[in-house]
Amino acid sequence: MLYRTHPKILHGSPASYARIRCACGYRWDPAGPKRSSLYAMNNPLLETNGLPAFSAIEPVHVRPAIERVLEANRHDIRSILSRDIDGWDSLVVPIEDLQHRLNTIWSPVRHLNAVRNSEELRNVYNECLPLLTEYHTEFGQNEALFRAYLRLEESAGSTLSPAHSRAVKNTVRDFRLAGVDLSGEKKSRFKAIMQKLASLSAKFEENLLDATNAWTHHIDDAQQLRGLPEQVLELTSKNARESGQEGWLLSLDFPTYHAILTHAHDRSLRKTYYEAWMTRASDRGPMSGRFDNGGLIPEILALRHETAQLLGFDNYAQYSLATKMAGAETEVMEFLKELAEHSVPAARKEIEELETFAGQTIEAWDLAYFAERYKQQRLQLSEDQLRPYFPLPRVLSGMFDVARHLYGVEFEEDHDFDSWHPDVRLFAVRNAAGEPRGEFYVDLYARPAKRGGAWMDECVVRKALGNGTIANPVAYLVCNFMPPVGEAPALLTHAEVVTLFHEFGHTLHHLMTTVDIPSVAGVNGVPWDAVELPSQFMENYAWQPEVLPLISGHYQTGAALPEDKFEMLKASRAFHAGLHSVRQLEFGIFDFRLHSEYSPEDPPCVLDVLKEVRSNVAVVPVPEFVRFPHGFSHIFAGGYSAGYYSYKWAEVLAADAFAAFEERGLFDRRTADAFRSEILERGGACDAMEAFVSFRGRKPQIEHLLRQSGMLR
Ligand code: ZN
Repeated sequence: MLYRTHPKILHGSPASYARIRCACGYRWDPAGPKRSSLYAMNNPLLETNGLPAFSAIEPVHVRPAIERVLEANRHDIRSILSRDIDGWDSLVVPIEDLQHRLNTIWSPVRHLNAVRNSEELRNVYNECLPLLTEYHTEFGQNEALFRAYLRLEESAGSTLSPAHSRAVKNTVRDFRLAGVDLSGEKKSRFKAIMQKLASLSAKFEENLLDATNAWTHHIDDAQQLRGLPEQVLELTSKNARESGQEGWLLSLDFPTYHAILTHAHDRSLRKTYYEAWMTRASDRGPMSGRFDNGGLIPEILALRHETAQLLGFDNYAQYSLATKMAGAETEVMEFLKELAEHSVPAARKEIEELETFAGQTIEAWDLAYFAERYKQQRLQLSEDQLRPYFPLPRVLSGMFDVARHLYGVEFEEDHDFDSWHPDVRLFAVRNAAGEPRGEFYVDLYARPAKRGGAWMDECVVRKALGNGTIANPVAYLVCNFMPPVGEAPALLTHAEVVTLFHEFGHTLHHLMTTVDIPSVAGVNGVPWDAVELPSQFMENYAWQPEVLPLISGHYQTGAALPEDKFEMLKASRAFHAGLHSVRQLEFGIFDFRLHSEYSPEDPPCVLDVLKEVRSNVAVVPVPEFVRFPHGFSHIFAGGYSAGYYSYKWAEVLAADAFAAFEERGLFDRRTADAFRSEILERGGACDAMEAFVSFRGRKPQIEHLLRQSGMLR
């Protein structure tokens, strides 16, 4: 949605492989080859039997555990290499095993750093990043291992199953992308760059979080808060009381920012908030110069370009595309341009209508506000007005019903588990035959020390345990909704319901895989421009007349969402589709051009590139003070660098996939079975385009997205 932080899936660096739930005898001896004092420490991170013991994990456990497992992995790699290792079982199985041993320990640390951040944890997390990067670079540059994989690919290529073959092929590719072919000096330079980039990205994210947390806005005049939803008023007044103040204390978390930009009648309050948000971690705005990411951006871009050139690519965009579904740079830019050709005229028309409605020029801090007023007038619909109809328990159970109808899966809540916060819940999933398929944690409310946005992350990846049994996958589904106030359950806007469906789509992709080779199971090994297909596909279900009765019901009366409101809600889906689209295209083109046009002799001024992109696709003027790139963590701290276009790319795939259900029925058995078996179950074990074609019978077409968003002219 327009002002929602973009849901993201986090599985970027090699250091973020998934965690494995060890069971049925698969047990790593944490004392390793020789017993160490760690064993006596009773380190919960080294206790790899079962789900993570979150409540017992302390920052002090992190570094010793990571050092220990890295030492053990290095030892085991040497040991594997000393044997005859040309076969799948003697090479790939033990290597996948030890990579997973590392993930077993790192995944809960990475997760806690995101959902229960503290200075101590952050410090040890940052201390470990270079250790992990060093290990992964060393692994990726291990020539003996690379040659062994190459021999396996050449000798056994035709006898391997498609999934096995894919796993080997990906690993060979990743060795090359990790610089295994480089000569001595270049190899060490590559290694040094990886280290530096990891710490720069971590610093970027850290600055942004600090800047977001450092700013609050105190208000003692109720007049300034006119228009804001009751929920926000209650929460911010509670915040003020808790800090010993009168009035209202507003923080800079996303739900508050969004509520103010959308609802506050006071234009100066909207502008104040817009400025604070859009200048986070920069040289402008109320925190000017504090936590400034300005210096990190050119450094990150230069190092990325150098990485790409070391590996023989012209630029970092080419390097990024080596692991994507999209083929060449031109294919991506032409795709974005084609979408822009449809989106920009639609957005221009929408902004003209909005200015006529508002009777004034729309500034950046007016857009959401007048869009909401206009939507209310035209559709008689307000986002917050529908909250009472979407109480969280109802939405969750209805969402599970949708998955049950589609794939025959059942969900059961598990109340007995160790957690990182009392609000967290855990659900187990069984398939139609009643067999356990996995579990997922659900952590839905915004709170201090929790990173903003919504995401799915892996806790455990499906894996064969070697004794004929399977370790089932486990996921984290994380959102940042406004917590319940008083006795009422959490009440969601429909946009939040859509976000929840999105992350649930990722979760199903992760849990329903039937591949048991971790590097290509679930979302692993799926190209980033295809990985948003199952999530964006799932969003469609939150908009269907057949589904709304399942997910809505007034939290006090139980009354279903009235039909007129439902019709308006449906009409609202395409509302300002052009404006939504140009915003995503602006980010996507900016990101791709930044990385594909980079020249070390003449490094770009990122703000100038953004300005130029905006001159082509933006329809609302952006004030000079805006420092959007300084907060663009997707590309500077996340895995979307030269890959932000992936959202739109996958949106086309998702719209086209959903069109198959529109044509044959929302819960059509054969279509749902095909989607499950060709897309969800196969994970990264096959080519993304082949998987799509197997499901749809042809390559993806852009028209379905344009039609669904009302832009087809
Ligand atoms: Zn996503």
